[in-house]
Amino acid sequence: MTKKICILPGDGIGPEIITEAVKLLDKLRSDFGLDAVLEHANVGGTAYDQTGKPLPEATLALAQSADAVLLGAVGGPKWDALEPAFRAEKALLGLRAELKLFSNLRPAVLYPQLADASTLKPEVVAGLDIMIVRELTGGIYFGEPRGVRELDSGEKQAYNTLVYSESEIERIARSAFEIAMKRNKQLCSVDKANVLESTRLWRDVVTRVASDYPDVTLEHMYVDNAAMQLVRAPKQFDVIVTTNMFGDILSDCAAMLTGSIGMLPSASLDKNGKGMYEPIHGSAPDIAGKGLANPLATILSVAMMMRYTLNELALAEMIEHAVAQVLDQGLRTPDIMSDGKTEIGTAEMGDAVIKAMKKI
Ligand code: NAD
Repeated sequence: MTKKICILPGDGIGPEIITEAVKLLDKLRSDFGLDAVLEHANVGGTAYDQTGKPLPEATLALAQSADAVLLGAVGGPKWDALEPAFRAEKALLGLRAELKLFSNLRPAVLYPQLADASTLKPEVVAGLDIMIVRELTGGIYFGEPRGVRELDSGEKQAYNTLVYSESEIERIARSAFEIAMKRNKQLCSVDKANVLESTRLWRDVVTRVASDYPDVTLEHMYVDNAAMQLVRAPKQFDVIVTTNMFGDILSDCAAMLTGSIGMLPSASLDKNGKGMYEPIHGSAPDIAGKGLANPLATILSVAMMMRYTLNELALAEMIEHAVAQVLDQGLRTPDIMSDGKTEIGTAEMGDAVIKAMKKI
């Protein structure tokens, strides 16, 4: 059946990197049998300028009706002074909430060709390939009660609540086990079960769900140790599953192990596998409109879409293989440039990936 992909370019470098991803999707449709239609809409500051809203109803309706969403990036200095409700970032939160995207997949992959880009020693990170699965809609960022109150002494006290129900833990655990099944079948659940009741329940539920996935090896790790292990020996991990706040912190740490923000895709999935796919970087206003942006994070987001929502595993592998080929050819956008390599711009990088696409 024909799939519908909603394309949301957004702001800053968003339209430039999305143009390259759309060129690739067109190639997949014309030459490699992808049965999909693409429909475009505005989001973020660009949408605010046109409609007064960062997430117009028509954009949300299109995203809801699509099988998958591909988003560039939103935000920029032009919209920074707006009231919080109209800020471009509000569109992202709105999309995540309305589409019920509770499972955030953040891969940290370091192509051996770019091992020098990391601040860690090449032998520690070369070939790194971790997937962090972060719970996205619960935990301390959303828990009630929250607020600031005044104590009898007149001193202010601020409080937040770390709350997880069994069903919330179970659905993110299942999401992570399913992903581990598509990878090396190793899952590390990260918690602070020695101190926090909420994550003691987390550990119990993840352990229970594990019995449905006998092929996956499950390990539990306290978050402080996980942070240490991520910089000590990151290649020990395959898939990590954790809470909203721990995942927020650990996924940024893992991303930085790779040293190149322009290379990292992400996905946010609902319970049926429908997803929103986007690079982890922002709208990079400093380089917008200059043809300098690295489109590979967005192109790799398309590969994730093929793997996790459209179940086109062969197409996912072809895209990832084409990216590796292009890096082998020594082609680099400025953000990943190093001595002896050939510097190219956004469109040339997109073209090079398309040229390298072949059945494997
Ligand atoms: P950023 O990720 O946009 O940029 C950080 C640095 O990385 C900049 O020097 C930028 O030039 C560089 N960079 C980012 N992506 C690149 C790419 N593809 N190729 C080459 N270089 C790249 O983060 P920021 O500067 O903190 O934020 C800029 C704007 O983006 C802000 O308005 C912020 O709110 C927004 N933002 C949006 C998202 C999103 O849409 N998901 C995420 C983060 C930040």
